[in-house]
Parts: sequence; structure tokens; C-alpha cells
Amino acid sequence: MQIRRLLALQFLMLAAAVSAAPEHSPWPGGIAVIEAGHSYGSAPQATFNGRPVLVMPKGERWVAVVGIPLGTEPGKQMLRIGEQEVAFEVAAHAYAEQRLTVKNQSHVTPDQEQLDRIGRERQVIDAALGHFRAVDTTGVGLVAPVDGRRSSSFGLRRFFNDQPRSPHKGMDIAAANGTPIVAPRNGVVAAMGDYFFNGNTVIIDHGQGFVTMYCHLSEIAVEKAQPVALGDVIGAVGATGRVTGPHLHFGTYLNGTAVDPAILLPQP
Ligand SMILES: [Zn+2]
Repeated sequence: MQIRRLLALQFLMLAAAVSAAPEHSPWPGGIAVIEAGHSYGSAPQATFNGRPVLVMPKGERWVAVVGIPLGTEPGKQMLRIGEQEVAFEVAAHAYAEQRLTVKNQSHVTPDQEQLDRIGRERQVIDAALGHFRAVDTTGVGLVAPVDGRRSSSFGLRRFFNDQPRSPHKGMDIAAANGTPIVAPRNGVVAAMGDYFFNGNTVIIDHGQGFVTMYCHLSEIAVEKAQPVALGDVIGAVGATGRVTGPHLHFGTYLNGTAVDPAILLPQP
């Protein structure tokens, strides 16, 4: 598939939205937006749980934009900004539970060869999702990578054939097989490949630990290390990997932590 840029007016309008700071959303799977000093000076270094954190301008201030892991207990958390420790409160958030029956048993209980493959792929995926590229950033706002009905399934606690699995770390967007997927802001392709669980996958690095992931594609239209611009076609919706039908699994990550894409997207 040829790379095409969709130069529709909507992208020009939405380009303004992508430079906005997100809403302070301080719950597990959410994003804390913490004041980090006056922007007269250079951007401070911020870390959370030992990992570097995205810092961006907001008006005349710097703000740290912190991904909060899904497993975080409600209560006080500490963010390091320069030489200071800054406390913030994490609120409780209830996520639903879902039980699924999956017909292909080999996708529920992989054999040793599959486990080896899954382990190798996990390393590549985790390295891409946790990568911190030190560049200036103007924000973390996104345009929708594909039009379609968005599920509110981020954070769902899932059971496949009664076996517990890790919570759902993305948003599923319903769309027909072959629907083009566009880059939701500028970035660089950090990884791409055909993975056991995720099928055909693209991971885009937007800088400062802000990373987005696209799974189950029918087709991949980009190469590793390729720069992509807002609106570039990166692939097409499909049903590859462990899925029951075509949809886009859309993941968004800050400081190596999956956060709810709904916080970063405009209202549908
Ligand atoms: Zn999904």
C-alpha cells in the first residue's frame, strides 16, 4: 500500500487540538498533569517510579504529564521534578470485568515454541513502548487514527475461558477490514511486525516517552525508523492475531505505562 497523506481540512483544524495539554486525570490508567515551574527557564527533568516523564509547556508554565499504571493503589504518589519531590493524589477508579470464550485453544495455552516466540516479541514490544526519545514536545493530543465506534473497554479485567489475563490496555475501535489507519500525530516508527497475540502491529514514538500502538492490522504501510506525519496512512484495519473480528486495538503509553486513549482523543 502506498503512503498517502490525507490533507483534509479536518486535519488542519485538529492540528490545533494536538498541541493541548490533557485534562488532569489522576486515577490508575489515567494521566496526572503536574505543575513543574515557570517556563522562563529550560524544561526541568521529571521522573516517576525511576522512569523519565514527559514535560511540556502549558501557558507560561511547564507541566509534567505522567502515565499512572493500572495497578496503582489509590493514595499519595511522588513525582521527582529536578531536585524536588512533588506529591499528588491518585483517585480510585472502577473498571469492569469481562469473560470471553476463545475457540482457538492454542491462543489460550501456547506451546513451548509459541512461548519462546511470545517472549522474544514481548522484549521488542516492551522496548518500543518504554522508549524515551529526548526531543521537545508541544503536547500529547491525538486525532482519531480511524473513524469508528469506540469501545470504553480500557482497563477491562478479562478472563479467557475462565483464565485471568492482564487488563485490556487499549481502546478497541470498530471498523471494516481494510479501513486506512492514520498517524494521530507526528512521530517515528519504533517497531513493526507480525506478533503472536497482537497480529500485524505498528508502534509509533512521538517523543519523550509518548508512544502509540496499533494492532491486528490487515496490512502495514510503514517501515521501522520511518518518520510519519499527522494524517499519514500507517496501515489498514484487520483481524490478525488473537481477535474475534476486525477492529483496531489502539494503545497509548506515557513513561512506559498504558493510559486510556480516551483522555488524549477529542470527544467523538
Ligand atoms: Zn483490544
